Amino acid sequence: MVVGEFTQESDLLVVGGGPGGYHAAFRAASHGIKTTIIESTPALGGVCLHEGCIPSKTYLAMIETVHAARHARSMGIEFAKPKFNLEGIRAWKAGVVEKLAGGLDSLCKKHSVERITGRATFEDAKFVKVTGSEISRVRFRRAIIATGSRSATIPGLELDSPRVLTSRTALELEDVPKTLLVIGGGYIGLELGQVYAGLGSKVTVVEMTSGLLPGADGDLVRPLRQRLNEDFEEICLDTRVTAMSEVKGAIELTFEGKNPPKSSRFDKVLVSVGRVPNSKDLGLEKAGVEVDERGFIKVDARLRTSAERIYAIGDVIGNPMLAHKAMHEGAVAADCIAGKNTVFEPRAIPAVVFTDPEIAWAGVTETEAKERGLEVVVKKTPWSSSGRAVAIGRTDGRTKMIFDKASTRLIGLGMTGPHAGEMISEGVLAIEMGAVAYDIASTIHPHPTLSEMMGEVAEMMEMPK
Ligand code: FAD
Repeated sequence: MVVGEFTQESDLLVVGGGPGGYHAAFRAASHGIKTTIIESTPALGGVCLHEGCIPSKTYLAMIETVHAARHARSMGIEFAKPKFNLEGIRAWKAGVVEKLAGGLDSLCKKHSVERITGRATFEDAKFVKVTGSEISRVRFRRAIIATGSRSATIPGLELDSPRVLTSRTALELEDVPKTLLVIGGGYIGLELGQVYAGLGSKVTVVEMTSGLLPGADGDLVRPLRQRLNEDFEEICLDTRVTAMSEVKGAIELTFEGKNPPKSSRFDKVLVSVGRVPNSKDLGLEKAGVEVDERGFIKVDARLRTSAERIYAIGDVIGNPMLAHKAMHEGAVAADCIAGKNTVFEPRAIPAVVFTDPEIAWAGVTETEAKERGLEVVVKKTPWSSSGRAVAIGRTDGRTKMIFDKASTRLIGLGMTGPHAGEMISEGVLAIEMGAVAYDIASTIHPHPTLSEMMGEVAEMMEMPK
């Protein structure tokens, strides 16, 4: 229904068309709620589809093919040195994104979700102003904010130069610099570092803490570290960048800390030091939506903000900033709006680093169990005992499970190795279902597979001798 000339009415307005937003919109529409989604860019999919998860995994899959060909030498098969056609690579990536964006358009139509392309700003707790669209305002009964996040910068070191990349511009893959400095040893920096190293860049990583991938247990990171020692020029921990300037044809940096890189000049620099929420300039204060000191929107367990009729989900409400968390929150918010009695209280949110080898973990980590003084038993095995791992020449993996000591309930697990990201789901289900060691050990796992390691580790708990 149209009120006034350009004002549209909506039972539910979803602001932001990323994975959180579109999932919430489709779910709400399935409940029979008249839903409108407003997205400032022309296509649905958000950071994840256009400049995050999907493009990065598309490139990583390509690099995996190159590594597989190289690795085949030890199996008695020789391939010629690969030649990279950047135009072809970019076209492949664009095709993947386009196909998935087309799928979202079809789902929007299927669910009869109304779409507005434009930028929303709250005028109060009932109206948003829209810029860049024929529709100038939307009056809503309920709203879900899913505006996501953007790359953080290093305060005082912002440099407007095409040689300084964010994850977004790095994924545009304009060229392959001879030397690339990655600032930040989190998953985005390491994944993109491995893509560029695979294409031929000499990659250096600087990380200000004493380890890569903060949040992951050190023993799971170790096999990746060994591999990165081969792929990268240098990994400089306990080191931070203190100055950055453009000099002729390069970026010149100064460093402070224990392990400054050998070189202070790089062709390009990728700044991947975290992400900040898109909560500014949204008019949140006019709508009565409160944010915390870092700008994340505050929500309760039902994902409702301080404004009764407005919910928020995804990166804009905080960590872990992952697409599957955003989507799950989208489902919970839509269900709450549909009157269901539900909350967002997962026991385990899986984290996957899609490097080679992959690292995946979920639930309580070993480090966290120690910090919290939990009574746990940790069981682990290297993949050297797996027939499948030996057959594919990938014994660099490991599987670890963390059990509650008294009940033997699985409360956490982690894996390193190829396909760890695919296999973690069994453990997430086990944690969510409250499975004990016996449940997992007595589940028949197919042989020979890497997933067998799950059963074997659980059996160690069951039959300690
Ligand atoms: P977003 O995807 O950020 O979407 C928000 C949308 O809102 C955007 O489309 C934006 O244009 C729109 N918007 C913002 N403000 C307005 C406004 N005022 N009006 C209208 N529209 C607006 N996560 C994983 O789970 N797995 C991965 O492998 C993974 N890899 C990643 C790799 C990279 C390089 C990056 C950068 C991120 C990666 N992520 C990954 C994180 C993932 O992309 C995010 O967690 C996810 O996209 C968050 O979803 P969201 O719906 O909260 O927000």
